[in-house]
Amino acid sequence: MTTRRKKIYEGKAKILYEGPEPGTLIQYFKDDATAFNAQKKAVLEGKGVINNRISEYIMTRLNSIGVQNHFIRRLNLREQLIKEVEIVPLEVVVRNIAAGSIATRLGLTEGQPLPRSIIEFYYKDDKLGDPMVSEEHITAFNWAATQEIDDMMATALRVNDYLSGLFSAVGITLVDFKIEFGRVYEGDFSRIILADEISPDSCRLWDAATNEKLDKDRFRRDLGNVIESYTEVARRLGIMKEMPTVIQGGVH
Ligand code: UDP
Repeated sequence: MTTRRKKIYEGKAKILYEGPEPGTLIQYFKDDATAFNAQKKAVLEGKGVINNRISEYIMTRLNSIGVQNHFIRRLNLREQLIKEVEIVPLEVVVRNIAAGSIATRLGLTEGQPLPRSIIEFYYKDDKLGDPMVSEEHITAFNWAATQEIDDMMATALRVNDYLSGLFSAVGITLVDFKIEFGRVYEGDFSRIILADEISPDSCRLWDAATNEKLDKDRFRRDLGNVIESYTEVARRLGIMKEMPTVIQGGVH
């Protein structure tokens, strides 16, 4: 698996390499976990394999309902072929239930259902700790156009509706999640598609019966059994059979 291909970008949990043809990239899922703006770090063996598979499954399902995204196909346990996009420097968060930063910021009790689904935007800048921004900031600083914001919000709500149902069917509550978008250019025009990943690293997923956390909060809050919980999400989605060695921690 050691090729001399060019590394385009290395982030906290993923690496992007140049793809086999123009307009494509290879997205490699690492086992590295970070939280609190990378102040907390660990290597969770097998995480990259599980997230690669879960993200593939979710992106494929979303594509099948017409939510266009960058996923092309999975290449191996840790890599997927994706469309190259120009990343919009925003994290789009959708929340159904109060948890994490909104609970702290607004003094809400974790687990309290929100009056309706709420969309928030954060400016992607590690040095600044990804500050929350409004549509005013986004258009003033040209991070995205008004039409693009509308498209991202409409897509975010569709993703929320679809994934809430998908997870609910397997006994999991979708509390909140973060997605990212990118532009693809076609001649003089560009359109916005879903990019990055959707996995237990980027969603809050609670067992519907017990409210047990099955997501990255297990790492953030030192709850233990991180990989076991991610594996449980994959198992419930019915996609564990394609990665039998992960549970034994035998994948490198
Ligand atoms: N999230 C993420 N990456 C980030 C920040 C947040 O994937 O850099 C996800 C997080 O896992 C949760 C949702 O976005 O599902 C909302 O996160 P919140 O703002 O509550 O972040 P916290 O401060 O708790 O990490």
